[in-house]
This record gives sequence, C-alpha cells and structure tokens, in this order.
Amino acid sequence: MKTPELVWHDLTPRLLEVRRTTRISPRMLRVTLGGEDLDGFSHAAPDDHVKVFFPEPGAELPVMPTLGEEGLEPPPPGSPLPTFRDYTVRHLRPGLRELDIDFVLHEHGPGGSWAARAEPGDKVGILGPRGSTLVPYTFDWYLLGADETALPALAAWLERLPAGVRTMAYVEVADAAEEQQLAAEVRWLHRDRGETLASVLSTVELPPGDGYVWVAGEATGLKPIRRHIRARGHNRDWAEIDGYWKRGVVNLDHHDDDE
Ligand SMILES: Cc1cc2nc3c(=O)[nH]c(=O)nc-3n(C[C@H](O)[C@H](O)[C@H](O)COP(=O)(O)OP(=O)(O)OC[C@H]3O[C@@H](n4cnc5c(N)ncnc54)[C@H](O)[C@@H]3O)c2cc1C
Repeated sequence: MKTPELVWHDLTPRLLEVRRTTRISPRMLRVTLGGEDLDGFSHAAPDDHVKVFFPEPGAELPVMPTLGEEGLEPPPPGSPLPTFRDYTVRHLRPGLRELDIDFVLHEHGPGGSWAARAEPGDKVGILGPRGSTLVPYTFDWYLLGADETALPALAAWLERLPAGVRTMAYVEVADAAEEQQLAAEVRWLHRDRGETLASVLSTVELPPGDGYVWVAGEATGLKPIRRHIRARGHNRDWAEIDGYWKRGVVNLDHHDDDE
C-alpha cells in the first residue's frame, strides 16, 4: 500500500535559546536553537514543522502558548497574545539538544525580522510538531517543488529519499546567489530571470507509474499547479500542495486556500 500515514506527537511547549546563527545564503539564515527543553522532542517526516513563539520587541521572553484538549487555544481574556509562525525542523541533533531552523530573511513580519536580529542567548518558544505525514518511500517517482520558505523541507526530502529513486525537484529562489548545496540535483528557478514554480509546474509532464507530488510555497502561485496535477487525474491522496505563506497577508493559515 502507498497510503501516507499521519502520526501524532505529544504537544509540549518548549523554551529554547539561540546557540548560534549561520548564513546559508544572502537571504537565508540558519538559527540553531538549543536547551534542555528539547529532551523528548521527536519528529518523523521531512516537512515536519513547529510553531515558533517570538518575544515582543524589547521583551526577553515570548508569550508561550495556551494549550487545551484540542491543542493550541486562545489565551484567557486579558492575557497577552502570543506571536507565532510556522517553521520547518531542518535538523535535529538530540544528543546535543540542538534544532536548526532556516529562516527566510525579510523585514515584513515578526518572524522574518526576529531572525534578522537573532543573537546567541535570545529566547523563543516552540510547539510541535503536532503530527507527521509519513509518505512511503516506495513510489516509482517523486515530484518536489518549493520556494525559499519550503526549501528546508525539500532539502530534508532529498536527504530521506532512497538513492536511485526517480526524483524531479524544482526550487524557486530570488537569484543564483540563493542556491545552496543539497543532497541531490534540483532544477533551480530564478525569479530574476522570470522563472517560477507556477510557470514550470503548471505544465510539467507526469511520468508513468505511481508517483507522489509534494509542492509548497507562496499560496497564490500554487493554484495553477494544483489545477494541473488534478487535471492529469493524479490520485489526490498522493499529492500535497501546501501554501506556506501568502503575499501581502499576515501569518497563516494559508492551508485554507488549498481547495
Ligand atoms: C508548514 C510551514 C512550514 C514553514 N517553514 C518555513 C521555514 O522553514 N522557513 C521560513 O522562512 N518560512 C517557513 N514558513 C513560512 C512562514 O511561516 C511564513 O513566511 C510567515 O508568514 C513568516 O512570518 P513573518 O512574521 O515573517 O511574516 P507575517 O507577519 O506572517 O507576514 C507579514 C508580511 O510578510 C510577507 N511575507 C511572509 N513571508 C514572507 C517571505 N518568506 N518572503 C517575503 N514576504 C513574506 C507576508 O506576505 C505579509 O505581507 C513555513 C510555513 C508553513 C505553513
């Protein structure tokens, strides 16, 4: 059977500290978070993500989440609102109690601007991952696509897929300076040359056999891709096409745009 399986994880709020930052490219910064609170943290899939809780400007600590039976809940009336955004778990090193998150640097929102100023010792909260979608690695082929925000997940996909499996991977970035070393060949699409995921993946040929499609990035640009994959009659259970952010719109949940 090739049915993706959803597994759930315990939801524990964790307070972590920035251990170091590493520049991956001009607009991508790896932030290594660490701390004892990482004990017991687990994740299982390449696109697993956590909610990162940021301190308000000038504050040392973030407002942490309020949890109820169903997970994240609105805080009690009168309590400060937490500020949080979704980010992918790029690497976990449990022995070192370290977690890497690769942030796209942009100055438009609290997530991007926090990362641009992150320094060792700064604190953030994390919550999640809530669940992992385990996609079997037994498909005949995989079609992967990402913009910068989904590049951390696509990079993890490439590290997990078995050697030799047919993989077509496309990554849209601003320009050639944003390319990074990955575990397998990808086709880089450069926006400064007019190349986009939408233009390439909305006409892509699907190979014969059973395939899995995973594409994530800016929500509006994904719509023609979703239409194209559906029009090809591709099994809906074998495609995940997920809006990770939406131009001009604060925060999520752009998953709502998926239909
Ligand atoms: C499952 C999941 C995993 C994700 N993983 C990552 C990850 O690993 N790394 C990562 O960087 N992002 C990731 N994202 C995307 C990230 O959550 C959004 O980009 C988020 O909006 C950033 O929050 P913000 O506070 O910087 O901006 P917001 O306050 O949410 O938005 C403010 C403004 O900034 C714009 N904006 C938001 N993101 C960008 C961007 N990347 N470039 C340019 N303008 C932007 C918005 O359109 C809006 O106009 C992920 C999203 C999801 C759903």
